[in-house]
Amino acid sequence: MSIARSEQDEALMHFLYQSPIGLVQAALNGDITMMNPMAAQLLLPPGTEPSATNLFDILDYSAPELKALLQAHGQCRGMICDSLRIDWRRKDEADGDRRVLAVSLVKLGDTGLAMHLTDVTAEIQLERRAVASAANAAPRIDSLTELPNRTAILEKLADLRADANTGSGRRFALLAINCDRFSHVNDIYGRSIGDALLKLLAGRLSRAVRQGDLVAGGKSNGATAAHLGGDEFVVVLTGLDAEDDGVRVGKRLLEILAEAYWIGGKQYHVTVSIGVVSASHMHAEGERILQDAYLAMNDAKRSGRARLGQFEPAMRARATHRGVLEDELREAIAKGELFVVYQPVMDLQQGRVSGVEALVRWKHPERGLVYPQEFIEIAEETNLICDLGSFVLEEACRRFALWKAEMGSRAPRKLSVNLSRAQMLEPDLAGQVAAILKRTGFDPADLMLEITESLAVTDDRVQKCLMQLKALKVTIALDDFGVGYSSLSSLHLLPVDVIKIDRSFVMLIEQSKHHQVLVDATVKVARSLGMRTIAEGIETAGQLALLTALQCDEGQGYLFSKPLPDADVGEWLLVDSGCRHSAA
Ligand code: C2E
Ligand code: MG
Ligand code: MG
Repeated sequence: MSIARSEQDEALMHFLYQSPIGLVQAALNGDITMMNPMAAQLLLPPGTEPSATNLFDILDYSAPELKALLQAHGQCRGMICDSLRIDWRRKDEADGDRRVLAVSLVKLGDTGLAMHLTDVTAEIQLERRAVASAANAAPRIDSLTELPNRTAILEKLADLRADANTGSGRRFALLAINCDRFSHVNDIYGRSIGDALLKLLAGRLSRAVRQGDLVAGGKSNGATAAHLGGDEFVVVLTGLDAEDDGVRVGKRLLEILAEAYWIGGKQYHVTVSIGVVSASHMHAEGERILQDAYLAMNDAKRSGRARLGQFEPAMRARATHRGVLEDELREAIAKGELFVVYQPVMDLQQGRVSGVEALVRWKHPERGLVYPQEFIEIAEETNLICDLGSFVLEEACRRFALWKAEMGSRAPRKLSVNLSRAQMLEPDLAGQVAAILKRTGFDPADLMLEITESLAVTDDRVQKCLMQLKALKVTIALDDFGVGYSSLSSLHLLPVDVIKIDRSFVMLIEQSKHHQVLVDATVKVARSLGMRTIAEGIETAGQLALLTALQCDEGQGYLFSKPLPDADVGEWLLVDSGCRHSAA
């Protein structure tokens, strides 16, 4: 029985000795008593006699921590380390021969040490590759929408450009897609609804482009939708036949993406603006192609949103011009190059001046006088409008107060100042206006703030701001009425006191019966709601006569006076105001 047992032990020992795991036995001082061939192969230079060596001498070269661990373990027996990974290189090996060994070391009481080791280099390499590919993939996928991101799309554009250079590529087009007024969605419904909406939009976009039937006849043979962050998406269409295929796809996407989105049982609507760069205008660099698409997209936004803009090279020059203008405008505000002119407003029924409208001007050091059409929009886009707006309001209030002091009852009775959308979205516009009124000692009842028609209708924040302004007891006028969204039937919903009938109606009132009827209706509806009317841009005596007959309350226009520098207002009031009106 005992013979059989020792045979078994020997067979087991032999089996272990030959195993592909390195096994070592050593005295506590490290002198090796047994080392199997696998351990020798891993740890020793070829031809070295294991029994003549000390384990710690071998290990200290690459893994001195093992000896330290053993010492730290103290007197007790037990596991010193279990599958500790060590970066291993033998003394005789070159640096490139590094391997990773997994080492387990056991202290067997006072008798010595046992160690087993395995070469896990291949395993580690696999692991590293998996981590590396995950790390590479991650920055190419947008985490919110799971669509390719900016990096991925730039790589794709680089590939497409390379194909184009070798002549192997077919036409491609790039579409930049941006949600209209997406910050409203976040502000009004919260970011979680905003994110949900972006995910739904991403899904709908990628399905639409993948189905490939957006181009007539399904001719596009490749499309990638990507999410560049925020509310910005991009589509690259490849393999196109016709130059205008990109535009056609863009138009379809405008419709598809504008359909309702359902979140938590509720419907949400969002429109997009799209900028298209077609094959013939493709720049060599991906970044520039994206920039060009944004230029076209911003053009679409400026022309009213929910539409498509096509990139054309002249847009680059215009963008540069806008950039220069923006820098100059920033300086202009600081250097005091802006000033205010005043256009008289007449009471048509009484034939006398009722007020003045403050209009900003820019005295550009090289270009001379610059009109607001050229810079108000840029000021709005860059938030310079808030500084500009405060400047105009404060300056006009001061000037108006001086006129009152100098001219007494002959002074204009009402001061009108224009407000822009960006100002209305300022967190505390009413507070700022109140502060300016206080600083300048201005009676709020003398101030009229004009907001453009397109602003007032849809936006809750604008409505809230208007109520706060009204609480200050200032008058609110709806500027440019007739060209925007609101209709006569919705006038009663707007918290305004005065309707300014746009110049485009006044211009046609003599020739067009239709426009006459519209102005007549506007005056009547406004009056029924207790609102006053002011006609803008009166240029002829005929227009004046008609508007007076239609009972329009007030009017302004070149017939009475162009906007005047502040120094000329006093003289105009004295000399011209009466004769202009009576001449009419
Ligand atoms: P708006 O408030 O509707 O001002 C009327 C514009 O029509 C003024 O142009 C005025 O000079 C012009 N106008 C007045 N009467 C006539 C006329 O009989 N014929 C013609 N052809 N034009 C006439 P302006 O000063 O160039 O201002 C254009 C727009 O710029 C303004 O339209 C207003 O929306 C904006 N704006 C001007 N100043 C400011 C400002 O201080 N702040 C803000 N936010 N916007 C301003
Ligand atoms: Mg105005
Ligand atoms: Mg106007």
